[in-house]
Parts: sequence; structure tokens; C-alpha cells
Amino acid sequence: MSEQPIRRDDLVRYLQAKALRPACECCGNQNYDLFDETQVDPPGMDGSPATKGRLSLLAFLFPGVPDFSRAKTLDVCAISCTNCGHVRLFSRAKVLQWISANP
Ligand SMILES: [Zn+2]
Repeated sequence: MSEQPIRRDDLVRYLQAKALRPACECCGNQNYDLFDETQVDPPGMDGSPATKGRLSLLAFLFPGVPDFSRAKTLDVCAISCTNCGHVRLFSRAKVLQWISANP
């Protein structure tokens, strides 16, 4: 998978191109925050290093018995409602695929 960061503008273009409903499914609010991978958090006061934003979900396969050796990650893009905080996730691979085809 590409290490290209997904910019806020590109995520907005993706959401608009897919005609996703902007209203929050929980409260109906029309405004949301987008997670921008190009943003860099400054170093923490405790000396922690600066970090770039990138979200991944950790998933375990459960074919009857938990098998922690088969953990997978799913990279995602997130948007959150500015009113209630409801979070929606989108497959990062799918967003990147669309951005590559629509630069
Ligand atoms: Zn909401």
C-alpha cells in the first residue's frame, strides 16, 4: 500500500464524488471534522516525538478460537461529527484508489 498521505482536500473530494450524505447518522448535524494525514502533531511536552496522523484498526480473526498470531490491520480514513462525535470510517485503500484515478 502506498505511503502517500491523504490530504483533507482529497478526502473531501472523495466524499463528494461518492455522494455520501453529509448529515450525521446519529444527530443529523451537517458538519464534521476530517482526519488529515498530512497534519503532524508537535512533540509532546513529555518529550514524546512528533507523529504523523495515520489510522489503522487492529483486527483478529476468530475462527472459533481467537488466534492472535493472525492479527491484521485495516488502514482507515475517519470523519467525525462536530456535534455528537459519531465517527465514520472509510477504507484507506479505497480512498487512495479513487485519488490515484482522480488526481
Ligand atoms: Zn452527530
